[in-house]
This record gives sequence, structure tokens and C-alpha cells, in this order.
Amino acid sequence: MKLRVVTVLLGCLAAVPFASANAQEKVLNLYSARHYQTDEALYANFTKQTGIKINRIEGKEEELLERIKNEGANSPADVFITVDAARLEIADSLGLFAPVKSKLLEERIPDNLRTPTWMAFSTRARVIVYNKVAVKAEDVQYYEDLASPKLKGQVCSRSGAHPYNLSLGSALISHDGEAKAEEWARGVVANFARSPKGGDTDQLRAVAAGECGVTISNTYYLVRLMRSDKPEDRKVVQAIGVAWPNQKSWGTHVNISGAGVLKNAPNKDAALKFMEYLASDEAQGYFANGNNEWPVVKSAVVKNPELDALGKFKADTLPIGQLAKNTALAQKIFDRAGFR
Ligand code: FE
Repeated sequence: MKLRVVTVLLGCLAAVPFASANAQEKVLNLYSARHYQTDEALYANFTKQTGIKINRIEGKEEELLERIKNEGANSPADVFITVDAARLEIADSLGLFAPVKSKLLEERIPDNLRTPTWMAFSTRARVIVYNKVAVKAEDVQYYEDLASPKLKGQVCSRSGAHPYNLSLGSALISHDGEAKAEEWARGVVANFARSPKGGDTDQLRAVAAGECGVTISNTYYLVRLMRSDKPEDRKVVQAIGVAWPNQKSWGTHVNISGAGVLKNAPNKDAALKFMEYLASDEAQGYFANGNNEWPVVKSAVVKNPELDALGKFKADTLPIGQLAKNTALAQKIFDRAGFR
């Protein structure tokens, strides 16, 4: 008798979280802040392999996180996928993620690109890009160079409050210390050719046009221009040089695309399967190639000549968990230095 009551109760509870899915249908509810068309093939392939249908809810990071928070225990969200370590850290600090235990993921994803909850599935580097006429390559070999008086009036940048720059600031804090990182931010601000505005691509165009001499950009924006047939994009690519920063010190700062399983995920098995799928050689190819990024799994192959043309480099090996944790401090330091 007691057993029957429990069964009925469980039945009721199970019906609450995701009422529209019938018990037989296998689904995964993916909250995604990635908006790359090529991701369609990545997801279709998962459904083909596993029979698990993906319901995708797309939005901006902040909106999606707010939504998951508000949905609380009844949230249908299984996996949250986005770009930038700082944003995944925000989700984690809100307590939204569940620990992920998978031998396969531990084997395939390098230690420094995993945390106990969220992990990286592709990487992008933040490089120095300069105008070949206005700036000498040897003057921009380190992030620290951007604060040198030599580059007075030459630097342009997107907002210091943007997660890409905060993550770089966080790397500088880890390697150079808090005081030096603040000094650096002040030096960069003193070197501005103009107040921060626009995205990375806008900075690349400004450097090519000679409005400023040097900037920092994520590699996929560069590769996007390199793959473009538009004459104006070709001109940009011809006018700029790319430096891999800090090759003789701690390596070039690398950020990630990544995902985590949500604490209240109603389809935990499907969520884990999806995470493991993202680390498969096949998915790694789709995942990284879609946005001109590098796979995190060593055996994965990306057929992307323009990305290959960037060449090999020494990447910073700072654990992404540590990188993400320092972004709040980076924000404070940048604020104090006037890098907004
Ligand atoms: Fe971006």
C-alpha cells in the first residue's frame, strides 16, 4: 500500500517539470547563447546518433541565465552553452550547474580546460593586431607592450567591461599580479587613440584604416575576414599584421566556448550524452569549425585552411576555472584605471 502511494507521488512530480514531452520521447533542452548557423549540423548529428531530440532555446547570456534562475527547480533547461569563461563562471557562481562526472570527458578534455561543473569544447586566442605601416612588429610582442609610452595615441579597443577583455585582464592578474595589472590598464588607457567603442571587428577595421595603430582581437574575427570575398575585407587583411603575444613569457591568452549541465536538469542522462558527444572527434570538428576556433580534443581534425594559416603558437595554460574566477577583480581594476 505504502509503495503505491510513493509511485503515484513520483508520477505527479515527474509530470511537473516538462509536461509537454511524453514519457517515451527522449529530449534535451539546450539553452544556447551561441548563434552560429553551422551549429545546426552539429545538433542534427546528435539527434541522428542518439534519437534524442534537441529543443533549443536561444538568447543572450544574461537573459538565459535570468530565465534559468527564475524557472528555479522547475526549469526545463538541461545544458547551458555559451562563449567566454567569465560567462560560464557567472552561471556557476549562481549555483546553476551540477557536477559532471564522466571518464570520457576527463580523458578527452585537457585538465586546464575543465572545471568540476563546466568545461570547454573549443578555444580562441586573443592576439595583438597592428597596422604594418604605423607600428613595428617588435614593439607589440607582449600584452604588456600595449601600455608602453611608445604606443601613445595608437591603441584602440572595445570596452574594458566586455568579458573578452575582462578575461584577458584576469590572465594579467594571475601572471603579473594585481598591482601590475592595474598599472597596465592605466597605461593602455593613456595610449588610447579614441574612447573604446564597437566590437573586435570594428577595431580591426580601424587599425587597417590607420585610425589607430594597434588593437587586440579574438582570432575567429580575423579568420572571418580572411575567409571573406568582399574587397573591403581583403584590404583590411592586407593592411594588418598579427602578433602572438607573450610567446617568450606565459603564452597567448586563450578563451573558450563551453557548456555545463544544469542542477535541475530534467533530462540528466541526455545532458551527459550531449556533453560527451561534443567531445567526440566528429562534433569537435563541427563545433570549432563553425566559428573558426580550435578543438580542445587533440585527436580532432579541423579542415580550415585560413585558421591553419594563422600557424601554431604557445597558449597560456592557466586553468580556465582560475581565469574565470578573477574576472570580477579585473572589472574592479579596469574601473579604477578608467578602462570602460
Ligand atoms: Fe565574439
